[in-house]
This record gives sequence, structure tokens and C-alpha cells, in this order.
Amino acid sequence: MGIETPEQIDNHAQVEFFSGVLIPGLINAHTHLELSYLAGKIPRGTGFAGFADGIARCRHQVPEEDRIAAAAFRMAKIEQEGVVAVGDICNNAFAFEAKTRSRLSFLNFIEYFGLASRHFPATDAVAERSRTMGFRTSQTPHSTYSLNDLPFRQIAREGNPLSIHFMESRAEAELFAHRGALYDRNHRLGVEVDFTGYGSPARRLVASIPPEKDLLLIHNTFVEDEDIQRIEAHFTGKVTWVLCPRSNEFIEGVLPPYERLQRHGVRIALGTDSMASNDDLSLLEELKRFSGKVPLHTLIRWATLGGAEALGIEAWAGSFEIGKRPGAVLLSGADPLTETLRPEATTRSLLSHPASGRA
Ligand SMILES: [Zn+2]
Repeated sequence: MGIETPEQIDNHAQVEFFSGVLIPGLINAHTHLELSYLAGKIPRGTGFAGFADGIARCRHQVPEEDRIAAAAFRMAKIEQEGVVAVGDICNNAFAFEAKTRSRLSFLNFIEYFGLASRHFPATDAVAERSRTMGFRTSQTPHSTYSLNDLPFRQIAREGNPLSIHFMESRAEAELFAHRGALYDRNHRLGVEVDFTGYGSPARRLVASIPPEKDLLLIHNTFVEDEDIQRIEAHFTGKVTWVLCPRSNEFIEGVLPPYERLQRHGVRIALGTDSMASNDDLSLLEELKRFSGKVPLHTLIRWATLGGAEALGIEAWAGSFEIGKRPGAVLLSGADPLTETLRPEATTRSLLSHPASGRA
């Protein structure tokens, strides 16, 4: 099966008709499937430091088999909804076996963090396991505030693409000015940081990451024009600004600055973040947050080709082009005249990407 341009399509056998818009398979550029067991466990609106503390409290309270089952359920659900590929942040290997039974295509981002450490043998072992099991795998720093200078530089040199949580809270920039919630938290825990001399999260990124790297920047909720310019000017590799609007609403109560990013003409993709900060992992529900603000064809591009380019799978995914096998999704409940989504709009997979979870 492939993409073709036949004549008189309704004369062909096995032609099916649907009501709606046919779009390529969806790409969720940022989630944490292994956190699916945290559904409903973290309170809304606590701000970023409160959110991190909430997750720390809940970890290890749920047996591994239940955590695996929760991740497997979400994988099956998003596949039905039309997702074909996922940029998945991994801190553990427990969901890998379930992933081998999924038809989703995964890029496993093995995430490093810890201000007290220079070596991360447990995380290295997760990366090794991911590679041994045949997954596309990339090691990445978690953020600009959770690793000290040397390990940040080392890990950023190893992985490609990198997927870094960026400007999710005001506290990230404030830390570099020795104030705010993250600064207070480090102070309270007696943790030393050696990177605030860079002056800002964006300055730290460009000073520490080689320009040829491909980079996904996740959230960007409090990003300024100067940050966008600085980063876009530095990198010769692909930079993708990944937005997770419902997670931002959940934690900080704000939408990411999509208009600002659009003005700079940058590549945008979408993610759901995890069940710790979302009601489900529906990419369509993320699109609805921008409906009426951003034209539907642009939103669909963010959710398909933008994500495919970010994950480096545009050779087969992200658009209907001859030679690609992007999957096919039926979008119902779109209004083509106003280019908006009705609240009851749905997506459903008509055709999966034929590969296994490790393609
Ligand atoms: Zn995240």
C-alpha cells in the first residue's frame, strides 16, 4: 500500500468513503508514557515547584505491573486516535517491553538530571537497554536547571536529537538571577549549582550545545523574543519548539506564546506531556486549545510534519507524499470555512503506519 494519484477513484474496488478531513498520522513530540500511572494523582495549579514535589511524593507508591498496564493502555488509546509516532521521555526501562508490542514508532529520549551528580550509571543502563532492545534512542539533559555544567555539556554532546524542557516556568530564568522558586528549593535542599554565570537559560543552551545538534525545546511557556533569536541564530541543526498547552494550563494556568513563536517563523510541534499534568494524551485536545486563534491547516501541520521533522522521521511520516507511509487519520468535527475545530471534534486512525514500535 502506498500513496498514489489514480484516475476516477470511485470506480476502484475497495474504495471507502468517510465524512471528515483525511490527515496524515499524528506525531506526539513530547510525552512521558511511563508516568501514565499518575493519572488524577497530582493536583492542578500548584505552580511548577509544587508540581515537581507532587510527582516526587507519588513515585514508587504504585506497583510496577500497574505502571506498565497504565502505559500500555495509553499507547493503545493514542494509536486508535491516530498517533503514529511519539517522542517519549524515559527515566526507566519498565515500559520498554510493552512498547515492543505497540505499533507506534518511538524515539526514546533518555533523560538525565540531578544536581548532586556527575555520573549517572542507572540512567546509562536505561539508555543501554533501550538501544539493545532496538529502539531509536537519544540521551538528553532534562532542562537547563537540573544538571551542573560538566554533565550538561557531556550529555548534550552524546545525544541527537536533544529534548530539553525549556522555560516551563518563570522560576527557570529567575534561578539565573539567584531568586525564585527553583532557587529557593535548591537553597532549602542545600544543592549547589555552578551554571548561573551564563545569565539565562537560553544563553546557557547556546554556550553548551554544539550548533549542529538537532534540538526539541519543550514548553517555551515563558520564552522571550531575545531567547528565540539567540537560539535560532546559534543552531545550524533543526530546532523545534514543542508546545504542550494543556500541561501549561494544568501547572501554570497559562498558554504558551504561540503568536510570538509564529512571528519568528520557527518550526513548531505539539506534545501532550504526561498524565501527571494532563487529563489524557489526546493530541486533538491540544489542537483545540488553539482553535480560533491559529488556522486549522497550521495546527494540523504542527501535529504532523512539525513533529515528524522534530523526531527525524519525515522520510516516512508527517505528510501525504508519494513514497511516504504516514498513516491516515479521519478528523471529524472540523469546520473548513472558519478553519476551526468544534468542541466535539474527534480523530480516529484509519490506517496505521505498518512498522513495529521500533521503526
Ligand atoms: Zn515533559
